[in-house]
Amino acid sequence: MKDAPRRDTVSDMSTTAPVQGDATKSASAPRPRKIPRVVVLGGGTVGLYSARRLHKRLGKREAAIVVVDPRPYMTYAPFLPETAAGSIDPRNVVAPHRRALKGIDVLQGHVTEIRHADRTVQVQPEEGDPYWITYDHLIVGLGSVARTLPIPGLAEEAIGFKNVEEAVAVRNHVLNRIDVAASTWDPELRRRMLTFTFVGGGFAGIEAMAELEDMARAAVKYYTSIEQSDMRWVLVEGSTRILPEVSEELGGYTLEQLRKRNIEVHLSTFLSSCEGGHVVLSNKTEFDSDTIVWTAGVKANPVLKNSDLPLDKMGRVVCLPTLQVAQEDGTVVADAWAAGDCAAVPDLINPGKFCPPNAQHALREGNHIGDNLARVLRSAEPTEYKHKNLGAVASLGMYKGVAQLFGRVKLRGFPAWVMHRGYHVMAMPTFNRKVRIASGWIGAALFRREVVALGSLHDPRAEFRAASVPPKVKPEQAAVAPESATDVATSPDATTKPGQPVQKDASSWDR
Ligand SMILES: Cc1cc2nc3c(=O)[nH]c(=O)nc-3n(C[C@H](O)[C@H](O)[C@H](O)COP(=O)(O)OP(=O)(O)OC[C@H]3O[C@@H](n4cnc5c(N)ncnc54)[C@H](O)[C@@H]3O)c2cc1C
Repeated sequence: MKDAPRRDTVSDMSTTAPVQGDATKSASAPRPRKIPRVVVLGGGTVGLYSARRLHKRLGKREAAIVVVDPRPYMTYAPFLPETAAGSIDPRNVVAPHRRALKGIDVLQGHVTEIRHADRTVQVQPEEGDPYWITYDHLIVGLGSVARTLPIPGLAEEAIGFKNVEEAVAVRNHVLNRIDVAASTWDPELRRRMLTFTFVGGGFAGIEAMAELEDMARAAVKYYTSIEQSDMRWVLVEGSTRILPEVSEELGGYTLEQLRKRNIEVHLSTFLSSCEGGHVVLSNKTEFDSDTIVWTAGVKANPVLKNSDLPLDKMGRVVCLPTLQVAQEDGTVVADAWAAGDCAAVPDLINPGKFCPPNAQHALREGNHIGDNLARVLRSAEPTEYKHKNLGAVASLGMYKGVAQLFGRVKLRGFPAWVMHRGYHVMAMPTFNRKVRIASGWIGAALFRREVVALGSLHDPRAEFRAASVPPKVKPEQAAVAPESATDVATSPDATTKPGQPVQKDASSWDR
């Protein structure tokens, strides 16, 4: 592989200057750094909290911190179900890096390779060639991706629910399908449009489905041609219960609540296929569904396989309780730290187990890495991360919830829902986001939540393309077949008529 240029002249003294420099010069003679450079991979929960804490401890005179992430914001995922339900504005569920990481360099791009032995990582920016950046200390907070299976039709028909883009797309899609169903007399098409399928009964799946179902019920009140009973909501879960994060009793209560709402729950059942939107379950149930949301677990970010860091069998970075990266035998890998969904962090409260992949741990681990790295840079010993689980809170729609606190306290219904909102709004990073979210809730309580579908946001140029007048084609050009399809068909030879948008191979998610 041809090596990308190295970028070594990151603001050695100042942490506010952009990361740049003469790549060829620096590759041959890197300037010695006056202060250590810390590169943070991922600007999510771990990345944002570790960078902020480190910056707070050391200031810009003791360390230059660089955060690399393809997105310009950190997403507070526990609020994604409420975002999909329209209770929280999508802009308020993210903390923009440029505001939340003041005094810290931010690079927008994907990390594609980590060579820790050489203390360098490769970054692929959105535009332009990849390049390498060097560092003295590395923090890995690359999170996780959806854990999928090779199920026929899944990649083509389904969508995940891991980030704000997906949450907004699912919301618009559900509302759009209701609109489409309300405008057709074809009973089969209506049934398909009004059947919503979720696969995975963990926290994310249950919250996402319960919130969206609640929102859809509120939305259909505005449609004269659709009854609430016309909608079919289906949950498919492979194990014998839902919500493994809470006690059997609370899981059972949640199941009962979902069934009371006429949500069809298939336990001990797997999705066998969903080609063309025709869902086939392992218990032989078959139906057509135009909405399939996959929330069946996560796995460590696969880019870690492109690194020389020690990984466990599940692809997570092996860590010590100090959050230092370590070999399987416990030998510390110098200058490397990891936490969150992509790391196997020993759980000192439950010996022999690992900290579960959740925001509660990720943000505390992020802060702990910041503290520990500051200690190490000042020649002190790192301390071990230890956190007793506070419990779990889940929203099941407006005024409905379930919560288990400190292992013992179990709440249901309205008190659990209040606890869910209270806990998460306090955990939401940055003061201004907390205020914006709370004021959004007050606005929705006064004027009801908004149930409009803005599906065209996903293809904002469609109308302009259709309206575009193609350039006149000279006779000699007309004889030459176009080499490739463009957005607008400009040639009379094209199969699409001039001015008409080229038909892309799009599933209904692209509408
Ligand atoms: C729908 C949903 C609901 C949830 N609800 C709860 C809840 O109620 N309570 C709870 O405790 N937890 C909840 N979680 C889990 C929690 O959000 C995660 O465990 C937590 O965010 C993990 O933090 P992280 O820093 O490891 O990963 P993330 O916060 O996901 O951050 C990873 C970052 O890495 C970036 N990245 C990815 N690839 C690259 C790359 N190649 N190069 C550079 N950067 C990259 C991403 O853009 C992202 O910013 C929920 C998760 C979801 C999806």
